[in-house]
Amino acid sequence: MKASEIRRKFLDFFAGKGHKMEPSASLIPVDDPTLLWINSGVATLKKYFDGRVKPDNPRIVNSQKSIRTNDIENVGYTARHHTFFEMLGNFSVGDYFKEEAITWAWEFLTDSKWMGLNPDRLSVTIHSEDDEAYRIWKEKIGLPDERIIRLKENFWDIGEGPSGPNTEIFYDRGESLCDPDDPECYPGGENERYLEIWNLVFSQFNHNPDGTYTPLPKKNIDTGMGLERMASVMQDVSTNYDTDLFQPIIQATCDKAGVVYGKDKQTDIALKVIADHARTIVFAVSDGALPSNEGRGYVIRRLLRRAVRYGRKLGIERPFLYKLTSIVTEIMKDYYPEPVKKQAFIERVIKNEEEKFLETLTEGLHILERVIAELKARGKQEISGQEAFKLYDTYGFPVDLTEEIAREQGFSVDHKGFDEEMERQRERARMARQDVDSMQVQGGALSELQVKSEFVGYGQMECETTVA
Ligand code: ATP
Ligand code: MG
Ligand code: MG
Ligand code: MG
Repeated sequence: MKASEIRRKFLDFFAGKGHKMEPSASLIPVDDPTLLWINSGVATLKKYFDGRVKPDNPRIVNSQKSIRTNDIENVGYTARHHTFFEMLGNFSVGDYFKEEAITWAWEFLTDSKWMGLNPDRLSVTIHSEDDEAYRIWKEKIGLPDERIIRLKENFWDIGEGPSGPNTEIFYDRGESLCDPDDPECYPGGENERYLEIWNLVFSQFNHNPDGTYTPLPKKNIDTGMGLERMASVMQDVSTNYDTDLFQPIIQATCDKAGVVYGKDKQTDIALKVIADHARTIVFAVSDGALPSNEGRGYVIRRLLRRAVRYGRKLGIERPFLYKLTSIVTEIMKDYYPEPVKKQAFIERVIKNEEEKFLETLTEGLHILERVIAELKARGKQEISGQEAFKLYDTYGFPVDLTEEIAREQGFSVDHKGFDEEMERQRERARMARQDVDSMQVQGGALSELQVKSEFVGYGQMECETTVA
């Protein structure tokens, strides 16, 4: 079953249960300073859950584009993590609760009209004290005890506000994927056997400012299922990257680099990272974020530079990432027409950024190799904050890129030292700005010219001039 069909079926299933379909919102949060990116389905619906806005229909279903940068280190290494993914979710704003949420999730997963999964392959976790969820899974659904696992950590809590226990559904990908004696071999443990596909959150308490919990007058349901993970299950492949959402991107990169997917572990990691980051960058730029040195822009820059570095590992020395844009937009176009319309623009943004980074990448890599060789000779294992900062400032190496390369060779980076250098740089910039301000004597158009300097490479400064 193609991913687009899974998405469609999910939306149709819940529409059939009286849910209103909401389109995917932009990845860039609106009126929410607490988030850099939309990172889940519920993130765009907070206004309903905290009571600011009353929805026309208390039942909502969506497929929401999400970005999670906290998973970046997993990308390429685990079968299931991305920086950009889609979360399918059904929501109840003070309407139905646990019983319906669990029963419908089970029906969607196991009924042959929908996903038709083998029920014996599914197990769930619940909060250790959630006897109500236990009873529903056990008596209503008929799951045996050994496949209902009680965990203390199954509690969704982000500080003050609605919170509550959750139940998560796992798909068993096969006994051979973890040793039953391994203490991590259980649903929710660190293993590749039990794949977490769906999280159902029961927000039923208010977390009060004094740290106590009181029942909410209206209880809510918030669920999230990873489309890419569900696609891997439905397509019976071992990782999300082997699904129709990623394979065309991976194939295009293979063709470009003259490598084959599925033969060598390091090559596959590079191909996965590139495919993942390409999707994230295309969608982020399509939603209006641009590479820069701050906030969201810096995330895009970091991802792009990381992808370029992995491209280099595959032997690609010329800009290539921008050419993946049309492949990403093609795969996603039936649900996301927007990136297709903006394709030429997205390509230009990516190509420009790739070209800039490639100018300094080789030189930066040489410097880093030299630093590492010198440290090795001295029996040291930590790259100083100063060196890391020089690589950032002069060669455009985001510190986590330096860190990643360092780690590959058993080295670490002095983070604190790096931050101190960064602070010193900011201080210098502040002083320089004051100098400029004191010289701004001309009036009119000239003082309205904002000159923003941007890193382009060693010994160069490029000025972007815009009229404010
Ligand atoms: P994991 O434990 O695998 O990191 P999670 O518990 O952090 O997942 P949730 O916050 O519960 O994930 O998100 C709901 C669902 O969204 C997950 O069950 C999963 O299917 C999907 N999901 C979460 N994070 C990612 C990611 N980085 N890439 C792809 N899918 C994800
Ligand atoms: Mg996670
Ligand atoms: Mg989890
Ligand atoms: Mg989870």
